[in-house]
Formats: sequence, C-alpha cells, structure tokens
Amino acid sequence: MATTVEIDAAAGTLEGRSPADVLAWAAGRFAPRITFATAFGAEGCVLVDLIARHHLPIDVFTLDTGLLFPETYALWRRLEERYGLTIRAVHPELSVEGQAGVYGAVLWERAPDRCCEIRKVAPLRRALSGFDAWITSIRRDQTSDRSVARVAEWDLRFGLGKVNPLAGWTSEDVERYVRVHRVPVNPLHARGYPSIGCMPCTTAVAPGEGPRAGRWRGRGKTECGLHARLPLAAHGLVLGTPEEASAS
Ligand code: SF4
Repeated sequence: MATTVEIDAAAGTLEGRSPADVLAWAAGRFAPRITFATAFGAEGCVLVDLIARHHLPIDVFTLDTGLLFPETYALWRRLEERYGLTIRAVHPELSVEGQAGVYGAVLWERAPDRCCEIRKVAPLRRALSGFDAWITSIRRDQTSDRSVARVAEWDLRFGLGKVNPLAGWTSEDVERYVRVHRVPVNPLHARGYPSIGCMPCTTAVAPGEGPRAGRWRGRGKTECGLHARLPLAAHGLVLGTPEEASAS
C-alpha cells in the first residue's frame, strides 16, 4: 500500500505527463493490486484502449447496476472482442427486482442517493477491497467536484490510491484520441447523450446544456458518489432502512 506522501509526490511528478505514461507508472507501482473501473464513457473506452495497446497488467471491471442501456451492454461486449480482454461485472447484492421488493419500486425517483449507494457505491467498495489503487476516467473539467482532481491522489472515501490519467484532458482531447485510434464508443453519444449512466437517470441534453445535464435531471444530483472527495459519513450517505427510503 502506498503512503499519502508517496502519492502526493507522484502527483507532482506525473502532472502533465501523457495518460499512457501515467498508466505505465500505475501498473509498475501497483500491479497486480490495481484495477480500473470503467462505466463505458468515451474516456473509459480510451483507457481500455491504452491498457490493451500497452499490454498493461491492470484488472478492469464495471459496475453492472442492471439498469444500463442496451447500447452500453453491446459496447461492453464489443470492447472485449476488439481488445481481447475481460471486463469483469460487479453486481449489487440486490437485483433490480430484489431492491423493489425491499425498498419499493423506482427507488431512483424517490431516493436516488440511496439507490446509487446500493447499486454503485457499496458494490464499488466491495470491488476495491483487496486492491491498493484504482484507476478512474474522470476529467477536471467535467464537474466542480472533479475540478480539483489530481493525476494521483489518496481516495479518502475508499481508502486506497486513486489514479486519474485523464484528469488534465478536455473533451476535445478525448474525441481526438477516439477518432485517431478508432476506439469503439457508445452510439448514444451521437444521439445527444454526452454522459451515460443508468437508463432511468439519463436523458439526452439539449443544445447549449452542459454535458452532464442529462444525468439525474431535475433531481438536484450531479454525482453518483463514486468520486466524492469526503468519507461517506461526511455526506450522510449510509445505507438506510427501507422505511427511511420510503420517507425520502
Ligand atoms: S444512476 Fe439512478 S438507477 Fe443508477 S444506481 Fe444511481 S439512482 Fe439508481
């Protein structure tokens, strides 16, 4: 396990380096105890391409909430075929039907934070246990929360190193890489969905709207909690009872 001092020093050294360099450093420092969590955004597809292109010994998984778009499931299989790697599925403990049985139907409409906790944050916490560092595809210009992300940082929430090779990239950088290297991406991007999550919480954006405006539209929520910068308790995000969820 790295120390925060080591991670801080690496962040300084790696700032401005290419994502390929950052990934190579991460693999050299942490493999085999390093993993990449992709949600199949264009950024995630770029990192899958880089990991495969440079034969880096980095585990790859996705959080399969059971509520992804058919196009996302198809892209998952396409990436595996194209790059000859396995992208592991990490599932919540409750199926969609099981969650409805315990918490009631459409929890994402009544209590989206709790739904994300059950279907994304808790499974991610389980998935990261046993690893010393994880890689994400966040960029600083995506949200205000992400604007202070460093290339390497200590993840207070999950208690391990966090590597963000694309932190300094813009959406134009991503588009250019996808175009030049013919990286498969989700066809929904071309239909007005710049950011794609679960089906019930993702809509297309209108011209002039921000790229994440279609996520949790009208629900006052901008993040699923995977990249929050404080421990869970600081956000009051702990798994509540079904009764609490019904009251939310
Ligand atoms: S994005 Fe929506 S459906 Fe998916 S886990 Fe979060 S609240 Fe639930």
